[in-house]
Amino acid sequence: MSIEGKNVIITGASAGIGEACAKLFARNGANLILTARRINKLNELADSLRSAYNVKVHTIEMDVRNFDEVKKKFENLPAEFKTIDVLINNAGKALGVEKIQDGVLSNWEEMLDTNVKGLLYVSKIIIPMLIKQNHGHIINIGSIAGHEVYPGGNVYCASKFAVRAISKGMGIDLSGYNIKVTSIDPGMVETEFSLVRFAGDEEKAKNVYKGVDPLVGDDIADIALFAATRPEHVDLREIVVTPTAQSSATIVHRK
Ligand code: NAP
Repeated sequence: MSIEGKNVIITGASAGIGEACAKLFARNGANLILTARRINKLNELADSLRSAYNVKVHTIEMDVRNFDEVKKKFENLPAEFKTIDVLINNAGKALGVEKIQDGVLSNWEEMLDTNVKGLLYVSKIIIPMLIKQNHGHIINIGSIAGHEVYPGGNVYCASKFAVRAISKGMGIDLSGYNIKVTSIDPGMVETEFSLVRFAGDEEKAKNVYKGVDPLVGDDIADIALFAATRPEHVDLREIVVTPTAQSSATIVHRK
C-alpha cells in the first residue's frame, strides 16, 4: 500500500522521532498535520517539506496536555484534511532518573499528563473520525520502558506500560471498524529525549549514548512507514526495536 496522498497526523513533530517521521512520510508523498508546542520549529519544517516534496502540510501549535485545545484544534481542520488515514501518537518525554523515594512530583505529573493523558486526549478526538470513515491506522510510540522497568525509570516506565495497555485496549475495542493499531516500542534513540530528561544537561545526555551506536529518529520513521504501508488486511500490532548493542533496558554493550 502506498502512503502517497494519504493524510497523516504526527504529534510531537518538532523534534526527534516525530520530525523524522514527518520527513520520511512527506518524502513518500503523504500530506501532513504536524503538532507540537514549538510552532516555529514546525513551521520551518513544514516550509521545507512543502518545497521539497510538494505535499500539503498543516501545522498546529498544541499542548497535548490541554484537552480543550486538542479538541478545538482537531475539530477545525482545513477541508482537505477531513479524512485522516494515519495518526502517529508520538509526543512524549521522560523527566529525571530519581529513585521513587526521591521523585519530583511535577515531573511525575508532566510525564503522566503528556505520555498517557495527552495520547488519550488526541485519540479521543481522532478515533470517532476514524470510526466514521470505517478506516484508519493509529501508531502509538511506546517504549521498551513499557516492557521492562529499569533503575530510576519508575514513573516514565509506568507511563509507557500504560501506553502499551492502551494500544492493546484500542486494538480490542476497535475490532470491526477496520482500524489498525500498532505500537512501536524503541530502546535507545538519540534525539532530544535525553536532553529533556536531564533538563538541558548536554554532558549527561551525551553519556547515555557513549560507546553505543544508538537508534536515530530515521530508524523509527522507517518502521512507522513500513507499518503504515502494509496491505489492508495486515496489522503489525507490536514492534520492539533496540540498537544492536542494547539487549534489554539495562544490558548495553559499550565500546
Ligand atoms: P524528543 O526529541 O524530545 O521529541 C519529543 C517531541 O514531543 C517534541 O516534538 C516535543 O515538542 C513533543 N512534546 C513534548 N511535550 C509535549 C506536549 N506537552 N504537547 C505537545 N507536544 C509535546 O524525543 P523523542 O525521542 O523523539 O520522543 C518521541 C517519543 O518516543 C516519546 O513518546 C518518547 O517517550 C518515545 N521514545 C523515545 C525513546 C528515545 O530513546 N529517544 C525511546 C523509546 C520511546 P515540543 O517540545 O515542541 O512541544
